[in-house]
Parts: sequence; structure tokens; C-alpha cells
Amino acid sequence: MKRTTIFNLLILLSFTTTIPTTLLKKLKGSVDHNADVTWTIVGAGPAGIAVVGLLLDLGVDGRTITWLDPEFNIGRLGKYYYHVPGNAKAIDYISFINQCHTFQEYSSPALESLRMHDPNEFCTLAVIISPLQDITHYLRGKVVARKNRITRLSFENEEWQVALNNDMQFSSHNVVLATGSHPQTLNYPCKEEVPLDLALDKQILAKLVERDETIALVGGSHSAVLILKYLYELDIQRIINFFKYPIIYYYDMGEGNPTNPNGLRGTVAKWAYTILEKQQPPNIMRIQNTPTSRSSWLPVCDKIIYAIGYERNEIPLLNSNSQQLDYDSSTGVISPRLFGIGIAFPQQATDETDSPRNLIGLLDFMTYAQHIIPEWMKKYPHKHLLRFENLFTIALL
Ligand SMILES: Cc1cc2nc3c(=O)[nH]c(=O)nc-3n(C[C@H](O)[C@H](O)[C@H](O)COP(=O)(O)OP(=O)(O)OC[C@H]3O[C@@H](n4cnc5c(N)ncnc54)[C@H](O)[C@@H]3O)c2cc1C
Repeated sequence: MKRTTIFNLLILLSFTTTIPTTLLKKLKGSVDHNADVTWTIVGAGPAGIAVVGLLLDLGVDGRTITWLDPEFNIGRLGKYYYHVPGNAKAIDYISFINQCHTFQEYSSPALESLRMHDPNEFCTLAVIISPLQDITHYLRGKVVARKNRITRLSFENEEWQVALNNDMQFSSHNVVLATGSHPQTLNYPCKEEVPLDLALDKQILAKLVERDETIALVGGSHSAVLILKYLYELDIQRIINFFKYPIIYYYDMGEGNPTNPNGLRGTVAKWAYTILEKQQPPNIMRIQNTPTSRSSWLPVCDKIIYAIGYERNEIPLLNSNSQQLDYDSSTGVISPRLFGIGIAFPQQATDETDSPRNLIGLLDFMTYAQHIIPEWMKKYPHKHLLRFENLFTIALL
């Protein structure tokens, strides 16, 4: 048999069985995770969960996958957004779960309840958070999961050197950053800021604002309109919404046809259309965000909430500013064998007006990951298999 044929056969085997790993283990002794990690996935939000599940689907040995997160609680979603009404239908979450074979190996009441959900219903994010908590628990048992934060990442001796906050260090062939983002803020002059993450939970927001206060809300997208709805329902005396663009809807509210993929959907869209725009509640004032409007109105505001989007979390890369870190938004490649995915490194699409749009829904992550992970593996082949080929090279010489 030709050398290339043997190598191809081994690649095929690695995707379909565990034979190469078992053989390899016999040849080189037991796998030492810290010294010889093939894949390191940083982050256990929805994007990290998708990557770990799909690597296992593709036949990567879980013992060579190291998964890092300080909490393992579904990232920002699990920490803050349990009660947030989502802007996707249940079918998107069901598809997220169904598109990964490894996820199907596990069953729990929360997963079954998601599958029974009306697929066309817009629901709170709790519907997907609980199943993802169960899946995280299952995946943690299949890979090397460490409750840690990476503190340094550098490329030395042809490998990524990963340092953790417990002083542990190991080298990894590939690293995937699924490290997420945090809410952006500005420095407008105002007495007090209510953080976006807290404002997105109505019960918490109710404790942070008083009915006789004037609240400034900056922004005009899903999160901003949701908070506007909460403040209206909490009967706050005066709400001043500084916006840049008029409200846009996913569906044409008259005809019900999809028009703008960036637009509002679900309960938030319904409230914006029927109450905010049609009834124009007297305690809500919406004004263009300009220096003049801010200098006129911010002095009368007691508190300010910024709902103006998210920015990438700091990544401890040596010799690089992670906020500006460049990546290919169609392949997720940051540099050789360093990849990015999720809200911090989203796939970009262009809409009808040719303006770029970040794809940051859970199903977007899964569909994108299914496409790019096999490409990563093809472009930067599996280290063990390369070594394996070398063994055959020697044997055939
Ligand atoms: C209000 C709101 C509503 C939304 N509604 C929907 C919806 O309806 N449907 C939908 O599909 N999407 C929705 N989204 C979007 C979706 O929630 C996000 O895009 C998604 O949760 C981001 O996932 P992620 O895995 O990329 O990042 P994150 O969830 O932020 O996870 C990143 C993880 O990386 C970890 N991490 C960071 N740095 C390090 C480090 N140095 N070492 C180790 N670990 C690290 C963090 O601790 C965290 O656990 C919504 C978002 C918001 C804000």
C-alpha cells in the first residue's frame, strides 16, 4: 500500500473510530494532558459548548481536548440573562441542540422540555440555558475540563503556550478562543450608571431605580427597547431615550413579511410597535443622541443605562492588543492554529444594503462551527496523525 494511501486511511479512521488514539497510546504511553494537548477551548458559553461538541462529533479524543472556563455556567447568558425574552424562536434553540451528535447522547428533563416546546414561540432565554447547563455537565465528563482562566497565551517552539491563573502552564497544538464580550459603556456625565447586565433583568432593575426618578437610556436595539419596556412597566416618572436610528423591525409589522434581519422580533417588537410607537406613552421621551440633546437633558437625569452593544473581552495575548486582534470573519482564523468564534469573533454576513452584519445567535454559532471546524482540521492537520505518518515513513524507508 502506498504511503499516502495509508495516511489517508488513518485520517479516515481518526474521524470514524478511536483506533488511532488507542494505538498511539500503546506506542507512546498514556496521554499526558498538560504536556500534549491537541485542542484547547477557552470559554464555556454557547460558542465554546458548540466547539467542544463538534470536535467530539468529528472523532477527536476527548482526553486531548482541554476546556477552560472560570465558571462553566453558559457564559454571560447563564450568569445574567435567564429571564431575558429572546429574539429567536424556540426552533433555533432546538436546532442548536439537534445539530450536534454528541449532545444527543445525553437526556435530561430540561432537554426533553425544550424539544416539546412550540417551535414557533418566542421564549425567554431560560428555555435554552437549562438544557445547556445539562450539556455542559455532560461534556465536562468527556474532555479535560478545568475551572480556570487563561492568563497568558504565547506562541513558542511551534506550539501555543497556555498559562492559567493557578500558575499551571501547558502547550497546545490548537487554541480556540470563545471568550465572549461584555457591554460597552460611555462616559456621559450622569450621577450614576446602572449596568446593562443588571438592567436586563426586570426584577433586579426594579430594585435599582426609583419611581420618581428620571432615567436616561442610550441605545435603540433589542436590549434598549426591552429596558424601555421594563421601565415603562415599572411606571418610572420620566424616561429619556437617546437613540441614533429609528426602530427597525425584523418583520414588516403590517404585512408580517421578514424585512430586516437586524430588526426587533418577538415580544419586544410587539411592544415597540403597539405601545411605544402607536401610543407614545407620556413618560417616555425619545430624542436623537446629539451633543446638544445630551447637554440639555442629561443634567436632569438621575441614572443612565447604556444599551449600545458589546465589545470583545480582554484576551491575555502576548505582544498584541486583543481588542484590535484581527481575524478572518469567514474562517475564524486569527493566526496559524489560533481560532476565534462566538460573539467575540463572529461570522460576518452582508445584508441587502451590503452593510456587514455580525451573526451572533446561538444557531449562527453552531452552523458556522460545523462549517469551519473541519476546515481548521484540514488546514492544520492533527499533530498525532502527522507523527503517525512519520512512523510509517520510517517503516517504509
Ligand atoms: C439581551 C440579549 C438577548 C439575546 N437573545 C438571544 C436570542 O434570543 N437568541 C440567540 O441565539 N442569542 C441571543 N443573544 C446572543 C447570545 O446570547 C450571545 O451572542 C451569546 O451568548 C454569546 O456566547 P459566547 O459563547 O460567544 O460568549 P459568552 O457567553 O460571553 O461566553 C464566553 C465565556 O468565555 C469565558 N472566558 C472569557 N475570558 C476567559 C479567559 N481568559 N479564560 C477562560 N475563560 C474565559 C467567560 O467566562 C465566558 O464563560 C442575546 C444576547 C443578549 C445580550
